[in-house]
Amino acid sequence: MGSRQSLGVDVADDHDARDDADGDDHGYTEAGSRRGDTELVTWALEEWERASNGLFRFHAYPHEGSALLRIYWLPWARGVLGETRPVLSRGGIVATVFIHPDISRAIAAARTDSVRRDVILYVVCLHEIGHALGLGDSMNEDDIMWTGGHGRDQMVYERLRRRVDSRAAIKVTSWLSNTDMARVQALYRR
Ligand SMILES: [Zn+2]
Repeated sequence: MGSRQSLGVDVADDHDARDDADGDDHGYTEAGSRRGDTELVTWALEEWERASNGLFRFHAYPHEGSALLRIYWLPWARGVLGETRPVLSRGGIVATVFIHPDISRAIAAARTDSVRRDVILYVVCLHEIGHALGLGDSMNEDDIMWTGGHGRDQMVYERLRRRVDSRAAIKVTSWLSNTDMARVQALYRR
């Protein structure tokens, strides 16, 4: 068994979210991210760390150039909430995660239910970080790595939403399935 791996990560900050007082943007950035969204990413990284059972740790890197995992907020584009791409950088491969935080564009109910919006954003972050870690999509709806689609997204998001009654509960809930956890451990135990 190898020693614990250290994975550098750079997360786009959300400090430029404007204040409500500035207008009617309700604190959203142009990309649709909100103050506090970076915290959701941090919780997602922490959940994967727990799932790895000590096999890896994430470390925040202040400069994206040295991070193996880079996470960016992007404005709503073409129907996808998140996307992960391997990118060549200085002879190595880095995982580039794009999150589209304007969730209400895909799920109308997220507009009036901020916990729903945060839950969906959280599981999108978890799913994409799973891809960045090397996991492929799953065909099982109980997995966070479930591929989505087939007209089942709304139903699955509804089920996830019912698991918490507040934003704070997102952090202390286990969202990854046993299969998600077993898969990531198998990958990093080599
Ligand atoms: Zn996927």
